[in-house]
Amino acid sequence: MANYEEVFRKVVAHAKEYGFIFQSSELYDGLGAVYDYGPNGVELKNNIRDYWWKSMVNMNDNIVGLDSAIFMHPATWKASGHVDAFNDPLIDNKDSKKRYRADVLIEEHVARIESKIEKEVKKAAKRFGDSFDEEQFVSTNPRVVGYKEKCTSIMQRFAQAMNDNDLVDVKALIEELGIVCPFSGTKNWTDVRQFNLMFKTQMGSTADGATDLYLRPETAQGIFVNFLNVQKTARMKLPFGIAQTGKAFRNEIVARQFIFRMREFEQMEMQFFVRPGQEMKWYEHWKESRMQWHLSLGIDKEQFRFHDHDNLAHYANAACDIEFKFPFGFKELEGIHSRTDFDLKSHQEHSGRKVQYFDPEINESYVPYVVETSIGLDRMFLTILSNSYQEEEVNGENRLVLSIPPMLSPVKAAILPLTKKDGLPEKAKEILKSLQYDFNCQYEEKDSIGKRYRRQDAIGTPYCITVDHQSLENHTVTLRDRDTMQQERIAIEQLHRLISKKVGLNRD
Ligand code: ATP
Repeated sequence: MANYEEVFRKVVAHAKEYGFIFQSSELYDGLGAVYDYGPNGVELKNNIRDYWWKSMVNMNDNIVGLDSAIFMHPATWKASGHVDAFNDPLIDNKDSKKRYRADVLIEEHVARIESKIEKEVKKAAKRFGDSFDEEQFVSTNPRVVGYKEKCTSIMQRFAQAMNDNDLVDVKALIEELGIVCPFSGTKNWTDVRQFNLMFKTQMGSTADGATDLYLRPETAQGIFVNFLNVQKTARMKLPFGIAQTGKAFRNEIVARQFIFRMREFEQMEMQFFVRPGQEMKWYEHWKESRMQWHLSLGIDKEQFRFHDHDNLAHYANAACDIEFKFPFGFKELEGIHSRTDFDLKSHQEHSGRKVQYFDPEINESYVPYVVETSIGLDRMFLTILSNSYQEEEVNGENRLVLSIPPMLSPVKAAILPLTKKDGLPEKAKEILKSLQYDFNCQYEEKDSIGKRYRRQDAIGTPYCITVDHQSLENHTVTLRDRDTMQQERIAIEQLHRLISKKVGLNRD
């Protein structure tokens, strides 16, 4: 499909029509950048979370889980740097009155130049045919080299300005690049200001002196403040990791693009604690391992890329993103950060308590270094949804199918009696009962069998089981495969094994 915006619109409409995602409080005209997950959405979301948990916690004997509270002592956020530095630079267009993130305006400008490079490469590939050497072309073609230099110099200047907290230069850069507001088309910009993204609330009644609290903007800090509790009670030796999934809240300035950028979202994070000096080895390990996780879902590797951070956060000594090609371009899906000993050290200072590990191998106590993997569950949901949305033509008819990896599909099998009489529903319900304990199944008897197949295709159900008159005679059913649309006659007693093979994690 060529028109990405059109595809994105369709994916969003599909998500609503088939009960994946609804706008929050839609009855009251909605709440900006907050979403609810419907019956199919919650299943898919749970399955993605489970898949992450299994591969991070259950499959690694040196990673354990945690579920810390959303509310934390306010000193946590002072220590983590969020009170002073969790800001986004914002800028307004005076004519349209629209607000933007200055960094996003600049990054989008760079992305437009990068897409010019892509176009040049495509053109040249066509021209040179089989003899085309992309690497050589990109490093020698004067136009492409010029574009690349431009991108680098813009990002370097921006990183420098942010490091120096020089917001005047950020504005100057936006003006020099000739960036215009997409709504008004003008360059009539306000100054750039910093805006803190944390939501504030209060605990206790104001009469007896309420405490100001924040809704956590990341789950990571719950892990850091529990480092010693977990290490001691689970008797963990370095290197080891603590993983958790849970809600995070950010008062995002610009929250467009559906569930890509939300004000309430869910993170899946893992903090890996290592001996100082070994962090780069583990950083490389987790980069590789997390990329493999994405590829294990069968998504084309061309859809992913690494993006190294030019502008390192205050706590990091190395950081990169795994970007996915969303319908609106390559954007961050997951971050892998080498956070040094910044967080633990800072909690040690602010709490006045020692947060250290005694390493029996070298007979020394120290504050561990940390490598973090942090992925947004909702962004992963959007990755799966947009990657699996397909429109096909089958025998002159349009078929809409979500080719979700079967282990993540909301419904694993639909059980469909061919007609509503002759004992077929009873037989179908018997089959449903036998599968329900292990798989999320759906029973459907309304509409023609073709229509029922289409509805299941549209939510990504890997198998449809049709119960017909023959089923009563010889205990067989037809099993229809979502992707091949092939139907096979099989014995009812084989169903459990076949579904299990299709949707299970163990592929051996
Ligand atoms: P961005 O640059 O897109 O704002 P970030 O660099 O601030 O993201 P991190 O703080 O590294 O993001 O958070 C880790 C992960 O949490 C991100 O990779 C993303 O998947 C997810 N995430 C962050 N902010 C949001 C949000 N507003 N909505 C949904 N997911 C988010």
